[in-house]
Amino acid sequence: MINNKMTLLTKSKYLNGLQCPRLLWYANKKLLPEVSLSDQHKFDQGHDFEEYVKKLYPDSVDLNGLDFKENIDKTKEAVQSNKTIFEAGFMVDNLFVRSDLVIPTEDGWDLFEIKSTTSVKPQHIPDLAFQKHVLQKSGLKVNKCYLIYINNEYVKNGEINPKDLIIQEEVTEKVDLVVDIESNAKKFLETISQEQTPDICISMQCNKPYECPLKKECWSTLPENNVLQLTNWRVYWKLLEEGVEDINDIPKGTKLAAKDQIIIEAIRENKPILSKEHIKHFLKSLNYPLYHFDFETFDTAVPIFDNSRPYQKMAFQYSLHIEQKDGSVEHREFLSDEGDPRPALLEQMKKDLKGTGDIIVFNKSFEISVMKQLAEDFPEHKEWLLQAVDRIVDLADPFRAFYYYNKSQKGSYSIKKVLPAITGKSYDELEIGNGGDASMMYFYSHIRQKLENKDEIRQNLLKYCGLDTEGMILIMGKLKEL
Ligand code: SF4
Repeated sequence: MINNKMTLLTKSKYLNGLQCPRLLWYANKKLLPEVSLSDQHKFDQGHDFEEYVKKLYPDSVDLNGLDFKENIDKTKEAVQSNKTIFEAGFMVDNLFVRSDLVIPTEDGWDLFEIKSTTSVKPQHIPDLAFQKHVLQKSGLKVNKCYLIYINNEYVKNGEINPKDLIIQEEVTEKVDLVVDIESNAKKFLETISQEQTPDICISMQCNKPYECPLKKECWSTLPENNVLQLTNWRVYWKLLEEGVEDINDIPKGTKLAAKDQIIIEAIRENKPILSKEHIKHFLKSLNYPLYHFDFETFDTAVPIFDNSRPYQKMAFQYSLHIEQKDGSVEHREFLSDEGDPRPALLEQMKKDLKGTGDIIVFNKSFEISVMKQLAEDFPEHKEWLLQAVDRIVDLADPFRAFYYYNKSQKGSYSIKKVLPAITGKSYDELEIGNGGDASMMYFYSHIRQKLENKDEIRQNLLKYCGLDTEGMILIMGKLKEL
């Protein structure tokens, strides 16, 4: 008899419990913060991929969308008829799972977990182990366990053949090595039935295997200048384990990297720490005119446009500020409308980047990888794109090397921290304030038309990307002043 009020440990809660008891407790009480647009995007990507897996089993039963009780009843019927089942539901002893795919074989049932990743990850194994445990306890003999994930070497060319997109890997041996399911399940059921919130225990688990949605809340208890701002994570987790939270409390004699000593010095001296010689050397090495450049991209698990791969960064926008030696500046920009953004972007970019001056970016690995991928996908543009790659100079370098550090950067050298720290200007007043939001806003207004205020979004995207390159000029100006 199924009682809707009974305490259930589902697969996702079991995995929450493995990460942290507090996360499990909040998830069970449905108290987690609202899912962000980018998290929703990740779920949607998984769902899109599953639809391609389903195409490989046209005779299967799909129990997706059924409520809890109906799902369990229909699963029983389908199991008795020896059917291949998507979203089969099993419940035993307050444990409940919905398995992505189960297939009957002569030696029992093969169990499949579908993930929109591009390899098997360590966290996938306990996920399958918990499912296998529940299936076996409810009387189903599980034969082999598999992970189905995305082939990241797949290149779309016309209609997608699911066989080319999908990789299936057997992981039965690894799953069978997981032995602590029964005891964990007992412990987690106790956690979700307790009245009190479990104590905060900030640790590496806050980021592993997933960034915890409660981080903002739990980490807000840390002091303003806390050891998690240091660059050497082995040192900072060790300090935290020893109860040292505040940078000012780090015991004398603790071995610290040179960059961490700069972080501490900036806090103790209460002023920015800089190496003028290194900054001067960096500025002297630049070749004018300077092309301050920044891309915005989106990506999807299943490629949408021909000649692209799973999770490929698809550039849809750029901003360019061209700065002459005399200080005069010209702004150029590109923002795609609907369809594959790359052909029109490349045509305009080729004209805009024409010249010989340095192309200034912030964190060059991203821009370089996008340009190299464009060169591979559009060989007719390869020559000038690779020449452009050779002109790239990374404005993040002086900050990565801590030639300038302000304590308000909180250990980070991202442009979102450096710009306000060095110029006082920030992204806070913009409607779109980071690359993740820009990507989602563009994707859901131009590629998947779910958002209606497209014109407004375009204006906000132009403002956001424009500030990235304008910000680079401002940062450069401050470095010159220093
Ligand atoms: S942020 Fe860390 S301590 Fe807080 S619930 Fe998440 S994993 Fe647990």
